Amino acid sequence: MSVLTSPHDSTPFRRARRAAGLALSDIVQISEESARLKAQGRDIVALSTGEPDFPTPAHAIEAAHEAARSGLTKYPPTAGLKSLRAAIAARAPGPEVGPESVLVSTGAKQVLAMAMLATLDPGEEVILPAPCWSSYGDIVTMAGGRAVFVPCPVEAGFKLAPHALAAAITSRTRWLLLNSPSNPSGATYGAGALAALAEVLRAHPRVWVLSDEIYEHLSYVPFVSLREVAPDLAGRMLVVNGVSKAYAMTGWRIGWGIGPAALIDAMEAVQGQITSGACAIAQAAALAALEGDQEILGQRRAVMRARRDRVVAALNATGLIDCPVPEGAFYVFPSCMRILGLRTPQGEVLEDDRAFCRSLLQDHGVAVVPGSAFGLPGHFRLSFAYSNETLSAGLERIAKAVSSLQGTAR
Ligand code: PMP
Repeated sequence: MSVLTSPHDSTPFRRARRAAGLALSDIVQISEESARLKAQGRDIVALSTGEPDFPTPAHAIEAAHEAARSGLTKYPPTAGLKSLRAAIAARAPGPEVGPESVLVSTGAKQVLAMAMLATLDPGEEVILPAPCWSSYGDIVTMAGGRAVFVPCPVEAGFKLAPHALAAAITSRTRWLLLNSPSNPSGATYGAGALAALAEVLRAHPRVWVLSDEIYEHLSYVPFVSLREVAPDLAGRMLVVNGVSKAYAMTGWRIGWGIGPAALIDAMEAVQGQITSGACAIAQAAALAALEGDQEILGQRRAVMRARRDRVVAALNATGLIDCPVPEGAFYVFPSCMRILGLRTPQGEVLEDDRAFCRSLLQDHGVAVVPGSAFGLPGHFRLSFAYSNETLSAGLERIAKAVSSLQGTAR
């Protein structure tokens, strides 16, 4: 029997329940659609990806070469190289920790997955202030938990208000997942806002808090970690960070979690069955990035800040897009509410943020991500982690798209 007519070909495929609802994220889908249109010869400006356009520091690349040459080519310790764990521990915000409080994973994303897989029993809830990074909900669901999205509208600065946190906590709540500066809104919690949330958490000792600080070095206001503001909560806190955004090392896939040793042990046990630990050579590069010249952080932040100001001004100048100034990260998250209900020259009524973003891509060749992907419709996310030329081209197209719309907005 030939392979092609094997009886296996007709066996219906069924996904496990934990994978049933998982699809490629909207962000990946938009990137793929952009690539498809580009392959057809269309001129596409992609402003959809959360990836710095800077190069990885040369000393990190050199450290990787050296690591490979010197034989760092065997299985790494599951929780990470001792030297990297120690360097991360030495830089931990808030109360002092040792290397045993650090888990190194294949990107911050895997840290999040390890934390959820290691702690959630079926149906346990994770509070996600929305808008939030689209992977949070999927990771929680994949781990068997229930994602509880709490809307944080623009009027609240896209930030979780203490009373909203208190109202969302139930007997099944296991985690609050906080991200400052935020993807996609750029909202950044100051010491006062964090202290107010910590006060609510003190009344709920069963609830753990995960503080995703991956955009720490891309904050345009002074950055403060929840672990510094509320050291008394460190015993039920996981701080997540990594080299992807700060050092332009997205492809090296190194992130880490800092938390109580019992949690780190549980996450290490899960990681041991999934990857056996992050790539040793990439860990050596991450260590070099942490220990090398840190001046690039400030320089790159200044470049991003200038881009942010340009982008905000250009979007607001369209007259129909309302773009607040983000305090951190490299995204703007403007409202497209005043565009909804308007008609494109092709005759399509733009019913929602998805329709607006689809039209921007199909009719004008510029890729941005609808707010719905982050749990807050009526907005879109534009990444300004691109060169000035790319940004100019994209902003020009958006302005043209908006000015071509007809009708009366809702
Ligand atoms: N957290 C947030 C909020 C992010 O935006 C991202 C990347 N888009 C990550 C975590 C994951 O980062 P890493 O590349 O280290 O997996």
